[in-house]
Amino acid sequence: MKPICTLLLLLFTTLGFAQTDLRIYDIINSVSAERIEKDVTTLANFGTRHTLSDTVSQTRGIGAARRWIKSEFEQISSNCNDCLEVFYQKDIVKKGDNARIVHDVWVVNVVAIQRGTKYPNRFIIMSGDIDSRVSDPADFTSDSPGANDNASGMAGTLEAARVLSKYQFESSIIYVGLSGEEQGLYGGKGLAAHAKEKGWDIVGILNNDMIGNITGVDGVVSNRDFRIFSEPVPPTETEQQRNARRFYGGEVDGISRQLARYVYHTTKTYMPEMNPMMIYRLDRFGRGGHHRPFNDAGFAGIRIMEAHENYTQQHQDIRVEDGIAYGDVLEHVNFGYAKKLTAVNAINLASIAWGPPAPETVEIGGIVEPNAKLKWSKVDGAVGYKIYWRDTTSPTWDNYRYVGDVTEHTLEGIVIDNFFFGVAAIGKDGHESPVVFPNKILR
Ligand SMILES: [Zn+2]
Repeated sequence: MKPICTLLLLLFTTLGFAQTDLRIYDIINSVSAERIEKDVTTLANFGTRHTLSDTVSQTRGIGAARRWIKSEFEQISSNCNDCLEVFYQKDIVKKGDNARIVHDVWVVNVVAIQRGTKYPNRFIIMSGDIDSRVSDPADFTSDSPGANDNASGMAGTLEAARVLSKYQFESSIIYVGLSGEEQGLYGGKGLAAHAKEKGWDIVGILNNDMIGNITGVDGVVSNRDFRIFSEPVPPTETEQQRNARRFYGGEVDGISRQLARYVYHTTKTYMPEMNPMMIYRLDRFGRGGHHRPFNDAGFAGIRIMEAHENYTQQHQDIRVEDGIAYGDVLEHVNFGYAKKLTAVNAINLASIAWGPPAPETVEIGGIVEPNAKLKWSKVDGAVGYKIYWRDTTSPTWDNYRYVGDVTEHTLEGIVIDNFFFGVAAIGKDGHESPVVFPNKILR
């Protein structure tokens, strides 16, 4: 190789991945709190969006709400040369399936796919929920504005589609309004099954459920904190994989946890003013969300939400009792904060959809040696790879080494026992795949 080429290559490998992508800042700045406010208001004004509510009225009930969401996606699509494939995905749920299904109902999701140019069958998903509820989960007629739970997540999803539809991505992005959440996570179950049936390669789902409350019931007020919930390991792992974890580690390194760390890392890089909290659990204590059915199907999925909840404003009949105003009404939603969490989603969707796929296999070795050795499968479209490692007690990937376009590397003097390791593929604009925890032993 000529010296000049070597110099250029050196420059590229040292600067190429280290710089940030300026388009990501444009995406952050393009997210509009005003448009989110407008959409949350429209959604709240459908009176109720209960899954079992009216589907005929043009102004009230879940039918009117989903038709409006579909028409919004179609409008966004018409502004980007029909860049979105918009459709309903639906399943019938029979009366008595659980106590909350008091009559037969079609659970209808509204899906918009922005097709990737290079990996059309690889998908990263952002979801919000269409449906709402009051105190009695079977009450499908009372006013249930569900402004924060979960018009905020739905409006954020629409807004992310508006902003990202101005760009082209290598992988596909799905923006989806899921229904049936409050009745038993039916919409997520339906879409996850649909994805399996279609053979979609799902990178993961960013499930947004309540992204607009900044005043906690505990008195804490913060428009910077938010939570990323992720389960430790997939429920679909085999007995063999479970057994291997005892000897090789991985108790806190499942695919959903890696997706959570990805979102944490991207946020810290581009929105350092935010305070993402990695929560090491599937969801809030004993509670549910629409990422779970994706986890159940073996896909990565996380919940993104506010850090400080107010329980008097969730799942409540609108009323005043002992001087407390109950109800999930518009005036409690902070649209500036919903904008920030929408931006968190948008930059992660963009980063994943611009980045290469992750290596399929990552092998690790170094037993009774002073060095850790890693070897991984080559990724088409990657310009290089990063080896990440961290203390076994650390929640985040704190150390890395960029190793260029190779498929194996030895970390000299780093003892395998004392750290956890992983490998990410790096694309030409510096965007990374999620980190892959070793899934094979290198002998
Ligand atoms: Zn809810």
